[in-house]
Amino acid sequence: MAKKKMKDKRRQQIKEQKKIEKLKEKNKPVTFKCLDCGIEEDIPKDVVDIYDIFDEGDITVPPRFSCEVCGGTMEPIEYTSEQGITYRLEN
Ligand SMILES: [Zn+2]
Repeated sequence: MAKKKMKDKRRQQIKEQKKIEKLKEKNKPVTFKCLDCGIEEDIPKDVVDIYDIFDEGDITVPPRFSCEVCGGTMEPIEYTSEQGITYRLEN
């Protein structure tokens, strides 16, 4: 009986661990690259998601930020939106 309880606790711990890993994956930063000066910047995914949702532009266009260095356009190197659209920066 005691042994069974231990097992359940361990399973619970694994479940918790998996949950944390999933959350980390969700909050992984998205690397943006400036199309003009080439500088790269990591932006938390949840911030990009919110930006993407409120961006009323064409959904085939990735969310964009303006570069703090040169004022150019920054696009994500790779980003999957909440709608499931994956954007990849073409080199
Ligand atoms: Zn720039």
